[in-house]
Amino acid sequence: MSEAEQKLIRTSELDPKFKYEIAKMHGGEKLMRCFQCGTCTSDCPVARFSDTYRPRQIIRMAQFGLRERVLNSDTLWLCAACFTCTDRCPQDVEVASVIRVLRNLAAENGCVPQVFKEEGCCILESGYAYKIPELRIKKRESLGLPPLPRGNPEGIRKSLQGVGFLRFIEKPGEQKIERK
Ligand code: SF4
Ligand code: SF4
Repeated sequence: MSEAEQKLIRTSELDPKFKYEIAKMHGGEKLMRCFQCGTCTSDCPVARFSDTYRPRQIIRMAQFGLRERVLNSDTLWLCAACFTCTDRCPQDVEVASVIRVLRNLAAENGCVPQVFKEEGCCILESGYAYKIPELRIKKRESLGLPPLPRGNPEGIRKSLQGVGFLRFIEKPGEQKIERK
């Protein structure tokens, strides 16, 4: 399928129940208030530096019921959760929360970008979000800096187990969501 064909939206892709599913979740209630003014995108600090990340577009896709496209989209994971969009929306749509709801739905279906799974695994192993290179540890020593505080991966694992987080990062590989 060509890129132009991939961009075409077919009515068979639309899931009319999707917006109601989102609206039932905490933070997603005001999704249908969006009238596509674009304020969220124009004020979003991530959109400013990205050619593809557009919160207005994510909201529209969710309203239309483009379940598969929106939940499989890598751009969904670019949101920095700064809440600027939510603060500025003239319709009081909780844009950042809708994005969180969409991420949760994607994660429930195992659709979490590999990079975040790896980050999660690192936290579970060391207590740090990324593996600190040996070279950097030696550099600290050579500069007379104190050793980095030891992480508490056991404590973190216990907490994350309690909220059911582990199943999101321990599923191998990236998965795609298909129409229900
Ligand atoms: S600012 Fe609010 S109303 Fe405007 S496009 Fe974004 S979500 Fe929709
Ligand atoms: S919360 Fe996400 S979408 Fe909203 S302005 Fe911040 S980075 Fe952009």
